[in-house]
Amino acid sequence: GLPPYDDANIFARILRGEIPCKKVVETEHALAFHDIAPQAPVHVLVIPKGRWVSAADFHAGADDAAIAGFWRLVSAVAKDQGLEAHGYRILSNMGADGGQEVPHFHVHIFGGRRIGRMVP
Ligand code: 5GP
Repeated sequence: GLPPYDDANIFARILRGEIPCKKVVETEHALAFHDIAPQAPVHVLVIPKGRWVSAADFHAGADDAAIAGFWRLVSAVAKDQGLEAHGYRILSNMGADGGQEVPHFHVHIFGGRRIGRMVP
């Protein structure tokens, strides 16, 4: 399975303010910021404020308000970034086979160009 939560991971450090990020919006439950290596004209990461490695950890461990707040923020960011008219993609990599690099649960929002079909 996935490793236990590592408090030294880069997104934990961003949440603690130890390293900077280009913040999009922050709420009680979640933080949205621009990816440091954008793969599309809009490439925003949304992370919950908690010690969650995976979606399964988050959905099992967080309270309902935190889960709702997180997913509402994902949609709000896409809308605020102007992506609703033409569409966009949300994506989350999970574990080794999913290609996850940062072991803090996060959702990517990609938009601003035609993303095309994802082929594994
Ligand atoms: P994943 O874990 O979903 O495979 O990818 C992690 C994402 O985090 C990558 O798209 C990478 O560019 C981004 N990333 C890694 N380190 C940093 C950082 O220090 N700041 C920001 N803003 N993004 C980062």
